[in-house]
Amino acid sequence: MSPKHIEDMYDAVIVGAGAAGLSAALAVLRSAQIARLRDEGVDPRILVISKLQPLRSHTGSAEGGIAASLGNVEQDEWRWHYYDTVKGGDWLVDQDAAALLAQYAPETVINLERDGVAFSRTGDGHIAQRRFGGHTRDFGAEPVRRAAYAADRVGHQILHTLWQQCVGAGVEFAEEWHVTDLVLDSDGERVAGVVAFDTHKGVTHAVHARNVLLATGGAGRLFHTTSNSWDLTGDGMALALTAGLQLEDIEFVQFHPTGLAHTGILLSEAARAEGGVLRNADGEAFMERYAPGHADLAARDVVSRSIRAEIDAGRGVADPKDPDGPRDCVWLDMTGIDADHMEAVLPQVSETIRKYAGLDPVHDWVPVKPTAHYTMGGIPIGTDGVVYRWDGEERHPVEGLFAAGECSCVSVHGANRLGGNSLLDACLFGTQAGRTLADRIADAPVAVAGIDADMTSDADDPVDTAAAARRDDIAALLAGPADADDPDADDNPYRLAADLGAVMEQALAVRCDAPSIARAADELRDELRPRAERLRAHESAPTFNQELTAIWEVRHLVDLAGVMLAASDARHESRGSLCRTDFPERDDERFLAHSMTAAGEEPLWQPVHIVDMPPQERSY
Ligand SMILES: Cc1cc2nc3c(=O)[nH]c(=O)nc-3n(C[C@H](O)[C@H](O)[C@H](O)COP(=O)(O)OP(=O)(O)OC[C@H]3O[C@@H](n4cnc5c(N)ncnc54)[C@H](O)[C@@H]3O)c2cc1C
Repeated sequence: MSPKHIEDMYDAVIVGAGAAGLSAALAVLRSAQIARLRDEGVDPRILVISKLQPLRSHTGSAEGGIAASLGNVEQDEWRWHYYDTVKGGDWLVDQDAAALLAQYAPETVINLERDGVAFSRTGDGHIAQRRFGGHTRDFGAEPVRRAAYAADRVGHQILHTLWQQCVGAGVEFAEEWHVTDLVLDSDGERVAGVVAFDTHKGVTHAVHARNVLLATGGAGRLFHTTSNSWDLTGDGMALALTAGLQLEDIEFVQFHPTGLAHTGILLSEAARAEGGVLRNADGEAFMERYAPGHADLAARDVVSRSIRAEIDAGRGVADPKDPDGPRDCVWLDMTGIDADHMEAVLPQVSETIRKYAGLDPVHDWVPVKPTAHYTMGGIPIGTDGVVYRWDGEERHPVEGLFAAGECSCVSVHGANRLGGNSLLDACLFGTQAGRTLADRIADAPVAVAGIDADMTSDADDPVDTAAAARRDDIAALLAGPADADDPDADDNPYRLAADLGAVMEQALAVRCDAPSIARAADELRDELRPRAERLRAHESAPTFNQELTAIWEVRHLVDLAGVMLAASDARHESRGSLCRTDFPERDDERFLAHSMTAAGEEPLWQPVHIVDMPPQERSY
């Protein structure tokens, strides 16, 4: 069944059905403004489009927890959370946004609980909380238990709960529709809609909308070793770039220290929070040497770099499955955790180790290596969720365009995100964007205000024009390789994504320098991008044609890689997750600034919002 107003006009289209998109949809439908409209007999037209069935969104893989200073197990305060967030982001954090994040975190978690999230409990029935790296009491004095959790399946709980609430609230979904274009009006100042491809029917739709919210998740698939699911190809970010917008701080990618060798699958930080210890080839618990005090629970970039340093110093270990292979892992030793306790609080971690490594964490040490985990940068938004452009002097909002969740950058994570802060970001700022959306919808609902003559069914209509161009593109892709003898004829998007991932990993993973960036940029320009442009599908049916969508996805990755390399190249310092071996120091004088990079351009720099916490030296 097609959505109700597909040939018509929507009040809002939300692209993405993870924590951010679903939180936004719920916030719209639950707002007082929309309730009032409904009382007046006006039904707002809101559509959530997702390339996956919503319950397959990556939010469902989040394991460890969601951060909030509930103070249920020990004293905690939002100001400490705020401080940790700013410090963890290596001071590249907009402090007004981070203060909101910390302040409204308890309310966000309690609302999730009321909606049905089955958090783990303390003995007296409160939401249980555990330690997570970088979260401290009393402005860095000692670790604090701040992450609310549901065993090690908190994302699964949150995703299912939000989805059920959305279904209950009557949210309209277009499932397994792939958004291929973000369309702005001709002067690029206002959103006009999106183009979406229904993968079941093989039909392309021009979807007109007064408001569009992008909540398409991260871009871990840029790297060969990643904890991210296959769908995280940075689509929303690439769509924004193609529409002429910038990405903010896109050079900052968090590598989670404990990806299971050689799958990249994440072993939650909870494994270390519960007592797991990293060891080198000599069996030494080396983190105490790099981060006295915090040791294995130091910030993720510190742990990832320490692992790399051990490997570079020849103290790495090989994956036992490939004993003659590279010694590019270290051990995660969980044998000190009581077996029953491990089963109770880390069921997912132990199952992953048993299933994919064939090891038993109760008795065996487990090989791990850093894995691309989280994209700190993204589509620039204000705290109201509205996307903006930066012209070198000030922000210019794009009317009706919103973003939330991992594809966005409200700049609460700065140069490095703390564990538990991204589910919080997605739920909290997703809700915030939904509230702003509700205000805009209530001001002029389509059903009352009618449809602007200049926005639909017009020969120059930008959404219809973009949809027509996309139909031509699809026809060309489905026509197959022009010449079957062409040596590229059997190239495919999966092989290209693997090659791109290897190039990006070599160039940027955990550390980089000017030559590594330049080599990757050359390969991208001379080899990978031309290959992406030449790709054609090998099957001509438009329905359920996964190669077709994979071609769009790898093209998105290629676009994103170009901008990520440009931003990494321009930042001549090391900060947070970005470790430039040729510029090892943080340079606040020149680079206490957000990079704002459009496709094919040098970044512009936007000052960081410092409110009440001047940058401090790193101390861990
Ligand atoms: C293994 C793992 C563990 C994690 N653990 C934690 C944790 O313990 N705590 C924490 O705070 N964070 C954790 N994170 C991070 C956190 O889960 C994510 O940042 C967050 O869930 C992102 O939510 P989102 O709504 O932005 O995106 P997602 O949940 O990734 O959803 C993206 C949505 O966009 C849709 N979409 C994408 N492209 C298109 C397109 N072209 N057309 C249509 N639809 C599209 C998809 O269908 C999907 O519905 C973890 C991440 C991973 C990978």
